[in-house]
Amino acid sequence: MYNPKYITDIMKISGLSSAEKEELAKVQEKFAFRSNEYYLSLINWDDPADPIRKIVIPDSAELEEWGRLDASEEAKYVVEPGMEHKYEQTALVLVSDMCAGFCRYCFRKRLFMDEGIREIARDIDADLAYISSHPEITNVLLSGGDPLFLSTKQLKKIVSRISNIKHIKIIRIGTKVPAYNPFRIINDPHLPEMIRKTGRKDKEIYIITQFDHPRELTEPAIKAVNILQEAGAVFANQTPLLNGINNDPDSIAELFRKLSFAGIAPYYVFQCRPTLGNRHFVVPVEEAYFILEQAKMGCSGLAKRFTFVMSHVSGKIAIVGIDDERTYMKYHQAAEWKDIGKFMSFKRDPEALWFDDYVDLLSEKRIFQEDKPPIPSS
Ligand code: SF4
Repeated sequence: MYNPKYITDIMKISGLSSAEKEELAKVQEKFAFRSNEYYLSLINWDDPADPIRKIVIPDSAELEEWGRLDASEEAKYVVEPGMEHKYEQTALVLVSDMCAGFCRYCFRKRLFMDEGIREIARDIDADLAYISSHPEITNVLLSGGDPLFLSTKQLKKIVSRISNIKHIKIIRIGTKVPAYNPFRIINDPHLPEMIRKTGRKDKEIYIITQFDHPRELTEPAIKAVNILQEAGAVFANQTPLLNGINNDPDSIAELFRKLSFAGIAPYYVFQCRPTLGNRHFVVPVEEAYFILEQAKMGCSGLAKRFTFVMSHVSGKIAIVGIDDERTYMKYHQAAEWKDIGKFMSFKRDPEALWFDDYVDLLSEKRIFQEDKPPIPSS
């Protein structure tokens, strides 16, 4: 049974030269490094611009003082320890502060830093009490860190307690384990068993993967996905658009085609958030839009089901169109009901990297002017 060894010190990576190790040691001191033998074996070490390398190997560009640790101001929506309630129907619970690899572009890298911002739910009693007393919550998203880095026993306890709450219909598990270490799934028969038992008629388990590049969809990765699909999990994928990793239409189109062939629905593409150390990953908003539109030309309808959004403190803002003069955006999800569906038109700004960079609002239209729209009961 192959069980890849975890590596947490770049000094132990044979693909890097001594000079590179010395240079990157400074980065590792600030932002933790973590990977494993399997994922490192996907890197083409002859190519310094290899996209898989860029996902997981530190880069001295991370030391540029740019961005914030909590770029989406998640702290604003914390209602209980380790739990956020930003969108009416969804509760987000951070159940783990560890991953099978640390993505260099991670927007929650603060969880892995030495000075350690302790944000995760060590004990979910208070979270469950909150969810139970809020019948409008129908979805619980487990995230972190990576929930699949927990043992199946730990995860099962959490999932079964949540699934016992009557109004919870969907439990989502956000994970990059199928990409980073598919053997965590392949070697553990208890995980599909847990999904089989929990994913009952009225409770769906969604696995939200994070495949960023088509080369991550290896044979073991697909096998791991298939095991959980056969157990009844529904799959969707989200990825940020990242400079040097997937910012070309061919890579994105290939990624989404392969995801659709594997029964994984492309769900969100995120504009890279202005997170500390991430400047070199960010593609300007309008350039990102055109890359994605071009990629769509190589995709079937099923492969282009994604929405391109900025996960802003005020909500998920979709970039829906661009013409010669204007960029059009619409709230896809909103923290405040008055913003739901709000449509906005801005003067184009090819340099803009984030929603806040668009200062020249030309018009906005609120869909719901007065009363809160009724939430359909499920
Ligand atoms: S798997 Fe998710 S939480 Fe973990 S480092 Fe990557 S982006 Fe961050």
